[in-house]
Amino acid sequence: MMRQAVGKLHAATYARRMISRFAIAATLLVTSAPVLSQRAAPPAPARVDRQVAALRDAALKDDVAYDIVEGMTTEVGQRLAGTEAEARARTWSAAKLKALGFKNVRIETYRMPVWVRGEERAEIVSPVPQKLHLAALGNSGATPAAGIEAEVVIFPTYGDLAAAPDGSLAGKIAYVGNAMMKTQDGSSYGQAGVARFAGPALAAKKGAAAIVIRSIGTDTHRLPHTGTTYFPEGTTAIPAAAVSVPDAKLIEALAKRGKPVRMKLLLTPRQVGEQESGNVIAEVPGTDPNAGIVLIGGHLDSWDLATGAIDDASGVAITAAAAKRILDSGKRPRRTIRVVWFGAEEVGGFGGRDYAAKHGQERHALAAESDFGADKVWRLGMTLPDSAKPMGERLAAALAPLGIVRGSGSGGNGADIGPTVALGVAGVDLNQSGLDYFDTHHTPDDTLDRVDPENLRQNVAAWTAMLAIVANAPEEIGPVEREKR
Ligand SMILES: [Zn+2]
Repeated sequence: MMRQAVGKLHAATYARRMISRFAIAATLLVTSAPVLSQRAAPPAPARVDRQVAALRDAALKDDVAYDIVEGMTTEVGQRLAGTEAEARARTWSAAKLKALGFKNVRIETYRMPVWVRGEERAEIVSPVPQKLHLAALGNSGATPAAGIEAEVVIFPTYGDLAAAPDGSLAGKIAYVGNAMMKTQDGSSYGQAGVARFAGPALAAKKGAAAIVIRSIGTDTHRLPHTGTTYFPEGTTAIPAAAVSVPDAKLIEALAKRGKPVRMKLLLTPRQVGEQESGNVIAEVPGTDPNAGIVLIGGHLDSWDLATGAIDDASGVAITAAAAKRILDSGKRPRRTIRVVWFGAEEVGGFGGRDYAAKHGQERHALAAESDFGADKVWRLGMTLPDSAKPMGERLAAALAPLGIVRGSGSGGNGADIGPTVALGVAGVDLNQSGLDYFDTHHTPDDTLDRVDPENLRQNVAAWTAMLAIVANAPEEIGPVEREKR
């Protein structure tokens, strides 16, 4: 019980951090644009080392990353955090990383509270009977076994829900629209996603019997997008689900007819208590133990609705395939490259926190995470100490031929490396295009056929060039100032 309470507290803190991080990213983006246009000509590009260029270009023919995504999605499938499926994924991953030749391959476990999906059905009963496609949100409460039927109160945006008086939703089902638009940098996820992260807790506080949101997604398919929601300690976990975007539009159109909309809702998910989850760790050992570790990776767990090919089998595959290219290059890197396939990211970042708790005191030179699908990398972000700025110039020059521009934002973002980076570790972001990412994100459509092998190879080339430069840089990569978390 005690441990579960701690887990819940962590989850609520995580939600706040996630929302504030997105808000900061959006602000940076808006405020940095005019600065960029006033800036003088950029410095002349640094020379690209011949070996770095050769490693980068060879990676454009990479097959390892696709093989990992194909293998994981076919031989393991969905990998919901804390379940038997995620445990099978850890076993599969450790065997795979050993077979690829990585050193010091190991699994580190921890315990965490686990939520599992049950039945989920909904329909509009009046003014016109209409069946709906929906998925419960992680941490959703359950309806009684017979379901509930109630009037729906329409809130076009999260702000409209926030403005509703306390107690005004007693006995009602809240509906929140908060439509998401496509953005290349994914910043619309924070803006629209607040309806999912915090909407259910807010509706509960105002007395709602349940909440249904428009999916946080940018597609027009009839597939709902799941994802975690957070109920702070002391808030009742009400039934909470997302309807597909076309169903959301239907609910809004029916409401516009002016007659009360009534919905029947059945959700039977359960909290099953503390279970085991874990991180899978593998290394390319470096020659200089004092130069610090280069930490890279993505998350091993997925949502339960699909095989998690883009979220995040692609991220673990890209980072491992790039590290393997350094491993196989015939020259040991100066810095140890540590590949971590984090557990339980989707449900609250438990793997990232466990890693920082166990390894935060080790010297990390730099961290980078891949958790934004499998589309091409388009932008480089960096947070480096002054001593490593020349390394940053070399990195920008080496990535330019892949169509990657140098952004003005920070580097080292990501939910899993976040707790380690917060200790003052430098970071690099290789941002993938987010234009299509939220079409399939957290839906039954997140399957292998969403992964374009050509795009995956461009990712591996970018990560390989980055690792070749960063792991071998003669510069000192010391701590950087980080916002307190
Ligand atoms: Zn992810």
